[in-house]
Amino acid sequence: KPTELTGLPAGVGEHLEGEGVEALYPPQAEAVEAGVTDGENVVAAVPTASGKTLIAELAMLSAVERGGTALYIVPLRALASEKKTEFERWEEYGVTVGVSTGNYESDGEWLGSRDIVVATSEKVDSLVRNGASWIDDLSCVVSDEVHLVDDRNRGPTLEVTLAKLRRLNHDLQTVALSATVGNAPEIADWLDAELVDSDWRPIDLKTGVHFGNAINFADGSQREVSVDSGGKQTPALVDDTLDEGGSSLVFVNSRRNAESAASRLGGVTSEHLTDEERGELRELATAIRDVSDTATSDDLAECVAKGAAFHHAGLSSEHRDLVEGAFRDRLIKVIAATPTLAAGVNTPSRRVIVRDWRRYDPEFGGMKPLDTLEVHQMMGRAGRPGLDPYGEAVLLASNNDTKEELFERYVNGEPEPVRSKLAAEPALRTHLLATVASGFANTREDLLEFLDNTLYAVQSAGNAQLETVTDTVLDYLEANEFVEREGDTITATEIGHTVSRLYLDPMSAAEIIDGLRDAAGETGRDRQYGSRGGLDRDADADADESAGFTTANDLLDEGALENGDGEEKDEQSAEAEEADADADGTDDVSALGLYHLVSRTPDMYQLYLKSGDRDEYEEVLFERETELLGRTPLEYDDVAFEEWLSALKTARMLEDWASEVDEDRIAERYEVGPGDIRGKVDTAEWLLNAAERLAGELDLPNVVSVREAKKRVEDGVREELLDLTSVRGVGRKRARRLFEAGIESRADLREADKPVVLGALRGQKTAETVLENVGREDPSMEGVVADSDAKRAGR
Ligand code: ADP
Repeated sequence: KPTELTGLPAGVGEHLEGEGVEALYPPQAEAVEAGVTDGENVVAAVPTASGKTLIAELAMLSAVERGGTALYIVPLRALASEKKTEFERWEEYGVTVGVSTGNYESDGEWLGSRDIVVATSEKVDSLVRNGASWIDDLSCVVSDEVHLVDDRNRGPTLEVTLAKLRRLNHDLQTVALSATVGNAPEIADWLDAELVDSDWRPIDLKTGVHFGNAINFADGSQREVSVDSGGKQTPALVDDTLDEGGSSLVFVNSRRNAESAASRLGGVTSEHLTDEERGELRELATAIRDVSDTATSDDLAECVAKGAAFHHAGLSSEHRDLVEGAFRDRLIKVIAATPTLAAGVNTPSRRVIVRDWRRYDPEFGGMKPLDTLEVHQMMGRAGRPGLDPYGEAVLLASNNDTKEELFERYVNGEPEPVRSKLAAEPALRTHLLATVASGFANTREDLLEFLDNTLYAVQSAGNAQLETVTDTVLDYLEANEFVEREGDTITATEIGHTVSRLYLDPMSAAEIIDGLRDAAGETGRDRQYGSRGGLDRDADADADESAGFTTANDLLDEGALENGDGEEKDEQSAEAEEADADADGTDDVSALGLYHLVSRTPDMYQLYLKSGDRDEYEEVLFERETELLGRTPLEYDDVAFEEWLSALKTARMLEDWASEVDEDRIAERYEVGPGDIRGKVDTAEWLLNAAERLAGELDLPNVVSVREAKKRVEDGVREELLDLTSVRGVGRKRARRLFEAGIESRADLREADKPVVLGALRGQKTAETVLENVGREDPSMEGVVADSDAKRAGR
């Protein structure tokens, strides 16, 4: 019983009982047995929705009761505030909670006063880099969804962060929560932890495969769900669940599929709605339309009015919250989702339908079956404890062979082992620089010893790969002047420190620095379209292969071009000189050029270049190449050239945004959701901020252009509106209307005629707030409004 637990703040046990936790679930009891409330390290590998969060809370609350502080590491930023809200219910027992989001480059000292801090692994990593002192005093760290160390992109950060925290404080209690994985003992071994490895679930889960006219369950039972001739399996299964009053969650493999499935399934759900539900759904649809004025918003609202919804990473967080909430309240009857919903978001459902079990994988070159681990996480969302008698997770097969395969792979199959991805170069580049910069290690031996604390070391004992990659990466960092080596000692240069604190991939920093130097005319460069002498192409290929770090520009500086095709080159140099003359000593870099520069760094997730896009962007390239910084890759170099074009497409989207093109129009033009636009804009803002810092530190003359490009993308406006958008409450649309009414600056706004302001801002409250924010003495609109009402009445 929770009230019998010792070592927790007074009242916590009773509170838990009040919430319906009458007894600990078996894995929770095992964790307590293993010492999770006594400061012991514990790895809990248990199925989704089996009460992992409570294990974490018990660990953290007991740590706080002993006078310590705790850190809870979440895998997604969206989960950080959700968890914080969840933990805030302990504030009435004297436990303070903080969440760290936002700007990477700060040490977040205020967080040191909190008992429990929630943050993403990236944020924690950056706090360590920025030397947040409270991190040293932590007594307990919880890592949620630790199996994500397997993730190619984000896994290494989590892995290194845990290793660092544990090295900073050898007594740190480590609690790691994981889905059931193939190698839980290895993870426990890595973290020197007791292992709780369990298949227990609070509600029975029946898994099976639908084929023909029935679901075949693993336990041998069948449930008839007939599909009309020519009909589809998914609607039939959703309909069947609804007949029993249950909801369904349908997992598909792409956003487009999520949207089209939801739209089709709306036809099924609308048949099952009561009048009252219809009314509530109409209201919800309106609320969804109010979030943003985009096609996605409209489509979603249309589905929701019928009781269905889609869910994917292209939705804004407001949309997601509305959809998840209404699904939990059983108002929305079905969600068609991409796998983001399986990861950590608490949205259980009576029935889970895994419709697509393959996904396009560019590295694989075709449709690849999903990992068993991932499908199990989707299936784990089935069954709402206390509401459903059991949960059902169903896969779909259209023939007998597929049915057999699905049984083998997912129904009876074991999840894969988690493998460290740390030895990948981009990961090591970033983390080795950070490790040197924050003083964790300053010799090669130190570095290797530090890396010994990682899962990678556990999994690669006796294998030299880590050493080899470490050397390659150190060479790269040295070549780009981020570190210096003197004898055995490795130290970070000033710029290396900055890069690490800015949380940039060193390769992004190198690209940005090169581009800015080029723009400043610091290095003579040939950036002509069509510069494709045979020799420099080879030089590029060599650079990529042998060192993997020298940039094309460095090679050019070293005279690799000297042997190029003479004739073609002469012609080009003339124009190149012109371009350089333009840039020389002036600060004349276009926003597009800067957006392109940051879009081609590995820190920007570029827009995908569809086959039909290629011609279009080659044309754009032709027209605007002189604005781009650095040299266009050779067209023969397919990969680099494609990337250059994708970056250009991304840059154009940012330029559109910064030129006040409607969000809706942008979404349409680039076939993206509002969430994507936001994401790219945020990333660009962050990278341009970094570029501004780097330019400042290196004394480059383009600081002003960079700052302006950053502010434009931040506010989504042309240059002329920047003064107005700096007023709180004035966004891109309001600023434009004010400008058109002749109010062009903050100063104008302080002097302007109130009726004009009111007309442009279209609302008394808004107008008053804005005038107040700009510091106008008497912001009241009382008389003005009465006047204009009177005028209207008189008309
Ligand atoms: P997980 O983190 O494993 O996915 P959660 O921690 O979100 O799962 O738990 C799922 C649900 O079970 C939550 O709503 C939680 O309040 C509830 N729960 C957890 N432990 C117990 C318990 N011992 N008794 C009753 N309900 C519990």
